[in-house]
Amino acid sequence: MMAVVGREVRLVARPHGLPGEDVFEVAEVPVPSPGEGEVLIRNAFLSVDPYMRGRMNDRRSYVPPFALGEPMTGGAVGRVAESHDPRWPEGSWVLHQLGWREWALSDGRGLLPVDPSVAPVSTALGVLGMPGFTAWYGLTELGRPEEGETVFVSGAAGAVGSVAGQVARLLGCRVIGSAGSPDKVDWLRELGFDEAFSYRERPVHESLRELAPDGIDVYFDNVGGDQLEAAIGAMRRNGRIVACGAISQYNATAPPSGPHNLFMVVTKRLTMRGYIISDHVDRIGDFVTAMGPWVAEGKVRYRETIVDGIESAPQAFIGLLTGENTGKMLVRVGPSD
Ligand code: NDP
Repeated sequence: MMAVVGREVRLVARPHGLPGEDVFEVAEVPVPSPGEGEVLIRNAFLSVDPYMRGRMNDRRSYVPPFALGEPMTGGAVGRVAESHDPRWPEGSWVLHQLGWREWALSDGRGLLPVDPSVAPVSTALGVLGMPGFTAWYGLTELGRPEEGETVFVSGAAGAVGSVAGQVARLLGCRVIGSAGSPDKVDWLRELGFDEAFSYRERPVHESLRELAPDGIDVYFDNVGGDQLEAAIGAMRRNGRIVACGAISQYNATAPPSGPHNLFMVVTKRLTMRGYIISDHVDRIGDFVTAMGPWVAEGKVRYRETIVDGIESAPQAFIGLLTGENTGKMLVRVGPSD
């Protein structure tokens, strides 16, 4: 029998610094009935992403802020439970952006099909979804590493970083990754990173000096701050910096103090390119063509940190910002097979 009540997560206050659970509310709402041309989706997995922290601020950015009292929108995967649109039959799996709710009503706009025979449906939010695409595009299009070059990836045990590092290995590069714990460092070695270190144990510039004595050619930056400063210091002439994210600053309550060595961009003839992956949807086909076989053949491996129950979504989000995830952070809110 179809449930009559579902739950959704709303933002009810704007955080200052690291969000607490008090800025979220888990509310009960009636399960909507789909009208003509609409489908009702039973969500299985909600995506927990760093960019959502920026949307909690009431500030103009590349995506609008979350509205207070409204459910948090964002990536989710679910199964069509009731359909009045022949394009989306009941039982089919879909990816959508309607976010953190157990049930979602869609008029079909923005829905994408997910094929459960290719890989577990959760991967549509991770290695075969937006984070994997971000890694592949940023590394191959902006970093453009050549065989034999040295690539440094920060945030390397996360959803984006773990893929960026493995793709760099597949391209024949020597890859160094940084992460926040010994367990994550061990996992990076299992993935085939040539070198991995914890940025919490000693200054990053010291680790880079030891592990990349001849310098680095490409820096895939997920973190910003002192890791960016250390990478600039270690870059070789004509190096490329892929500016993907700056998670060390997302909870900052004061402007960041560095990097202090930006003039080296001039003296070392560096290129630093930022990007927002949603600008490049025209390349999704190329991404799937490259990444699908790599994942199927085990050449790109992935992990997911799955937290159960929609009531756990706020804690999962705080955990993402404090390093509790290895690989992709997800919340399971419904049946996934
Ligand atoms: P992750 O899976 O990497 O999760 C976030 C990780 O960030 C945590 O696990 C934690 O790992 C690390 N972290 C948190 N605080 C700090 C800190 N102060 N210093 C260093 N590391 C920290 O998230 P994603 O893979 O989804 O995202 C990675 C980056 O990519 C983010 O910056 C994100 O904003 C960016 N991004 C950019 C996109 C674009 O279009 N440009 C699209 C998608 C993501 P640890 O234990 O190692 O500290």
